[in-house]
Amino acid sequence: MSSTYQEQKFRILREVWGYHQFRQNQEAIIDQVLDGKDALVIMPTGGGKSLCYQLPALLMEGMAVVISPLIALINDQVYALRSAGVAVAAMHSNMSQTQLSEAEKSVTQGKVKILYVSPERVNTQSFKRFLQSLQISLFAIDEAHCVSIWGNDFRPDYTELYKVREAFPKIPVIALTATADEATQADIMQQLRLSQPQKFISSFERKNIHISAFPVQNRYRQILDFLRKVPGQCGIIYCLSRRETEVLAEKLSKAGYKCLAYHAGMDAGKRNEIQSAFQQDKVQFICATIAFGMGIDKSDIRWIIHYSMPKNLEGYYQEIGRSGRDGRPAQALLFYGWGDIQTYKSFIEESDAPEAFRTVQMAKLERMWEFANATHCRTNMILNYFGEYRDNPCGHCDNCTHPPESFDAIVVAQKALSAIIRTGEKAGMNMLIDILRGSRRAEIIQAGYDRIKTFGAGRDLSGIEWKVYITQMIHQGIIRVDYTDHFNLKTTPLSQPVLKSERPVKLVRYNDVRAKENPPSTRKKVISFESELSEILRTWRLDMAQSRQVPAYAIFNDSTLEDLVRKIPMTFDELDNIEGIGQIKNSNLVRHCWVPYENM
Ligand code: ADP
Ligand code: ZN
Repeated sequence: MSSTYQEQKFRILREVWGYHQFRQNQEAIIDQVLDGKDALVIMPTGGGKSLCYQLPALLMEGMAVVISPLIALINDQVYALRSAGVAVAAMHSNMSQTQLSEAEKSVTQGKVKILYVSPERVNTQSFKRFLQSLQISLFAIDEAHCVSIWGNDFRPDYTELYKVREAFPKIPVIALTATADEATQADIMQQLRLSQPQKFISSFERKNIHISAFPVQNRYRQILDFLRKVPGQCGIIYCLSRRETEVLAEKLSKAGYKCLAYHAGMDAGKRNEIQSAFQQDKVQFICATIAFGMGIDKSDIRWIIHYSMPKNLEGYYQEIGRSGRDGRPAQALLFYGWGDIQTYKSFIEESDAPEAFRTVQMAKLERMWEFANATHCRTNMILNYFGEYRDNPCGHCDNCTHPPESFDAIVVAQKALSAIIRTGEKAGMNMLIDILRGSRRAEIIQAGYDRIKTFGAGRDLSGIEWKVYITQMIHQGIIRVDYTDHFNLKTTPLSQPVLKSERPVKLVRYNDVRAKENPPSTRKKVISFESELSEILRTWRLDMAQSRQVPAYAIFNDSTLEDLVRKIPMTFDELDNIEGIGQIKNSNLVRHCWVPYENM
């Protein structure tokens, strides 16, 4: 690579994007492309994939072609690049004939450095002829996992993209995705006919997302408490059923929050409406089924709540991954309950799917449940699950920030085990707890469980405490759940040594599990100058965004906002030092921006 490229890289990064350094792998990827070689980039959402092709595009001769399947995403990128002064155009099926002709004209005149196109457009004969008449610098294929049936979002249009490669054998192709296991990676390279590509795999860890999990008790109360702590920040609450989304959205609306329900049962028009309301910050959050989220490019989602437990870690990680795409801190709260797991198990058991498939689903569900109940680093559990083996604590999950303390729980374990044995292993979780707590409900009396020795022996603990402890014992292998026998609790080979006090049992106290639910609030009620300035800037940003029909972060993102509040630039030159404001954006802002400060 020429040395001028070396110097120019940093200059462009500063001048156009207003960034001062590259993130992990970005520079190496950019060098690879500038060298004219192919690359496969696997980087988590929010990792900064777009810079990897946008920056070389500005340095290289000719025009870069970016193939992207999501029109909303294309539109936002085009807006963001334009406001940074980059000559960019788009061609996709949502544009009118006039718009398309205009785009084509500026491309032909050599005015465009980056052209965004949808895959179905690239595959037409006329478009290929059009490309042949131009000087192309590079091809970037976004969401490259769509080419593979192993990926989770297969698109037939993608399988034709190798023809681009064949028609332009000398032009570098960079394929990018956030999700691709090894089978998918191999498929991408082979199907897109990448030639000797270098793979760049970034860690899947999302350092800016704080992960925590709570038992479902008092879930609504906890959500209200949480929402009070994040005023105005947008988020998504994922629910299990359509009905749940509606009931919750209605309750929270009545509690004064601007929120909407969203699920696949709504017609397309309604769903689009809700999606744009969210994208344009007209509502603070959406109570949705997992149908919501694909194709949403909103980089300032600050939190995700799972109102119920997802059915596997893939889904969970993908859903929480929608938060904090701008790299700013975000929070993921998971509520989990024994009921969720039973619902899923019944679904799986009753489904017509082949046995092997059901076994895998069950195993994945099991891992999800372990994750929810984990008492050690949750990030490590996720990374290990995805094959990125690691055991140093992450520092951004509840178990790292509030490590739970364990206590000697041999007596608790013995009471539970003895009750299991005395019911002839015929009681499920709830029944066993009722027996331990001495409930006189009809079923118990009928079965004669009120006459066994351990009846009422666990009155000192609440029902929820028992549930939490039995769950921990299940994870430690002291108790097992027999899924083939009505989810009844049974003993295991590890039970006997516990009953004979030969094996110690350590459990995490329920109070410690709960302690993280309401971390002491350190926020004072005093309204600071910073928060007021931040509020004014936010309002101004929202006005700007709404008048331009773009999402707020496209005006400037939360990092930029925080930097503005921290540094309070008083001259246009000082604006240059703000993260995320390059030279052109600066002069654009200068024209409109001083207004917010004048109001102070
Ligand atoms: P991805 O496509 O991988 O999900 P993006 O390309 O949208 O991620 O980048 C995510 C966020 O990170 C954007 O707000 C982007 O401006 C920001 N970003 C990217 N590279 C850098 C960098 N080198 N320094 C600071 N911010 C960056
Ligand atoms: Zn951790």
